[in-house]
Amino acid sequence: MFEKILIANRGEIALRVHRACRELGIKTVAVHSTADAEAMHVRLADEAVCIGPPSATDSYLNVANIISAAEITHADAIHPGYGFLSENAKFAEIVRDHRIGWIGPSPEHIRMMGDKVQAKKTAAEIGLPLVPGSDGAVGSVEEAIEVANEIGYPVLVKAASGGGGRGMKVIPDAASLAGLMAQAKSEAKAAFGDDTVYIEKYLGNPRHIEFQVFGDNFGNAVHLGERDCSLQRRHQKVLEEAPSPALNTKQREEMGETVRQAIAKLGYQGAGTIEFLYEDGQFYFIEMNTRLQVEHPVTEQITGIDLVREQIRVAAGLPLSVSQADIRFEGHAIECRINAEDPVTFAPSPGQVTDYHAPGGLHVRVDSALYDNYRIPPYYDSLIAKLIVYGSTRNECLARLHRALEEYVINGPKTTIPLHQRLIEDPEFIDGDYSIKWLENWLAAKA
Ligand code: ADP
Repeated sequence: MFEKILIANRGEIALRVHRACRELGIKTVAVHSTADAEAMHVRLADEAVCIGPPSATDSYLNVANIISAAEITHADAIHPGYGFLSENAKFAEIVRDHRIGWIGPSPEHIRMMGDKVQAKKTAAEIGLPLVPGSDGAVGSVEEAIEVANEIGYPVLVKAASGGGGRGMKVIPDAASLAGLMAQAKSEAKAAFGDDTVYIEKYLGNPRHIEFQVFGDNFGNAVHLGERDCSLQRRHQKVLEEAPSPALNTKQREEMGETVRQAIAKLGYQGAGTIEFLYEDGQFYFIEMNTRLQVEHPVTEQITGIDLVREQIRVAAGLPLSVSQADIRFEGHAIECRINAEDPVTFAPSPGQVTDYHAPGGLHVRVDSALYDNYRIPPYYDSLIAKLIVYGSTRNECLARLHRALEEYVINGPKTTIPLHQRLIEDPEFIDGDYSIKWLENWLAAKA
């Protein structure tokens, strides 16, 4: 087992990884920018190393400084968290070249899934159902028109290197195709330095349902059920739940077995998430994330399995601590992403936290790096806390979430707590009756 792990991240996820390490008796090294010198993960870690100025490019994305920090502190592994360098295949290779343990899948798998054209090809080969669309990248407008005619409008142009919904355009008809495709390409070029695009059928009203998977170095592969992440604003997830209100046990078992076999075929090692759109009883693969997800705690709550601990075990060369037969799905969990943003306009609201009181009680979990008088820096993602609540049924979970949101005090910056409070009182949400379009329509209607 590792003796000391460097956590190449910040905020709540740095703390989350630190907690798993402590419980395994592993020492931790925090790295931080000058803006994060007072951060919770820095205070709690055994050692801390400043890796640069506030800008993420110069600190949390600064490979040379992170590797140096690992060398100086004799860390024997690096956990990248999510975001930043977590899906950077080159970084994973550099870590391994320095004989430091990489807590993530192989660079080859990261690279394969990071290119969405390649990812779709692989997904088809390992038996996952795809959204109908182009067979790989589309080079010309003529080729795009041909594909669109075949699958029928509306279609979606997507960037091969895409992420966060950028470089994605809905094309309603042939007349607008050339213009929108050019826009998608230039957006993709600007954001990712790669203007390769491909085409998919645009699904009218799907849900976003993703499966958590895990593989080890001994050929074992498991799935840990699904999460429903349909509640999105601008392709960003807002609230997630497990299990999905839209699936029954039989559907879960069938699709779970399909993804489990796919992962086994791939020889995948570590934690991963296979994302699907789900419409009219059909699943359509959209992408695979080769890292821990923000919303992983809902899976932990319904399975009782610590996913970060499993990641560390697998990276250290141990087998998965559970087999598929051991994994039971019990009860229901919901996560609210709490951002330092105006709950109506979504304008960022960093600054001083003047009062902080986290909710507690049975089955209430708060993953947050906030504390009294902490100053939220303006340079990073606005996610400041995740409130995760468990109940033996979805209704019990909702009642508990209601009271936990009521108890939560974060004074100073504006937060999205009031948004969640309104959201969970909506009758359609309470019925679990929502798709990926639902939240934006709901927000527009409330405006
Ligand atoms: P990114 O990596 O940019 O987040 P994804 O492929 O994961 O891109 O898609 C992000 C979101 O865009 C999905 O969660 C869904 O809301 C929407 N989306 C993606 N593909 C389709 C599609 N074929 N039809 C309808 N909506 C889609």
